[in-house]
Amino acid sequence: MLEEKIAVVTGASRGIGRAIAKELALKGAFVIVNYNGSKQAADETVNEITQAGGKAVGVQCNVADAAECEAFINNIISEYGRIDILVNNAGIVRDNLLMRISEKDFDAVIDTNLKGTFHTMLRQRSGRIINISSVVGIFGNAGQANYAASKAGVIGLTKSASKELASRGITVNAVAPGFIETDMTQKLSEQVRNQILSQIPAGTFGKPEHVAKTVAFLASDDASYITGQIIQVDGGM
Ligand code: NAP
Repeated sequence: MLEEKIAVVTGASRGIGRAIAKELALKGAFVIVNYNGSKQAADETVNEITQAGGKAVGVQCNVADAAECEAFINNIISEYGRIDILVNNAGIVRDNLLMRISEKDFDAVIDTNLKGTFHTMLRQRSGRIINISSVVGIFGNAGQANYAASKAGVIGLTKSASKELASRGITVNAVAPGFIETDMTQKLSEQVRNQILSQIPAGTFGKPEHVAKTVAFLASDDASYITGQIIQVDGGM
């Protein structure tokens, strides 16, 4: 259980981030629900948590912006004293074939997915860090070179930080989801979805809750001796 824990979940206005925020709150944590542009959706996450008897607050911050992140983390520490659980979930895609990826789209994906994770981790002094990578960062994927590079970067960041921070009792792990049903994957054509489905041994797409339960385990006392690991939640991909 996570009573008395202060948790930050980036990109928690919908999808996987919302499910993680709800799961941590259900286990007793006070959850800071971060969002960038979707205030209304973030308010819905907070409402769903409070209606279920949990505690949460929504806070805007663009994780791609270093200065905003510094202020975001400093404000949380001055208000709540510490961050026990940091979940770096915020992420975007700008899919295209390698030859057609613009510099702008490459930078946007790296700045949000990889540097966004770095920005918030910088000031972490205790507790748990859980970064959301992707199986695409492990296997690669045609049409997602920028996204795969960002998610592979998150894996390197996670493994290196785990070695630096273990002596301070901070664990750093990553969860690498496979294909999870959210807004991010809803945009794909029926043909691409069927092709992906044929590669999933479990025979079904994942749900945000599958990822959320894994994150909650890594955030719990039961996972105190696990660090530097990349846990795939992908139905056997
Ligand atoms: P989603 O439904 O598109 O939600 C993305 C979330 O990230 C939103 O809450 C969004 O908030 C937030 N966000 C985006 N840019 C941000 C920024 N600059 N600063 C702060 N928040 C920002 O995506 P999802 O499918 O839940 O994915 C969540 C994470 O899981 C991502 O890191 C994604 O790469 C990873 N993942 C997803 C899948 C999948 O199959 N869905 C598979 C593997 C990995 P705003 O709307 O407010 O910007």
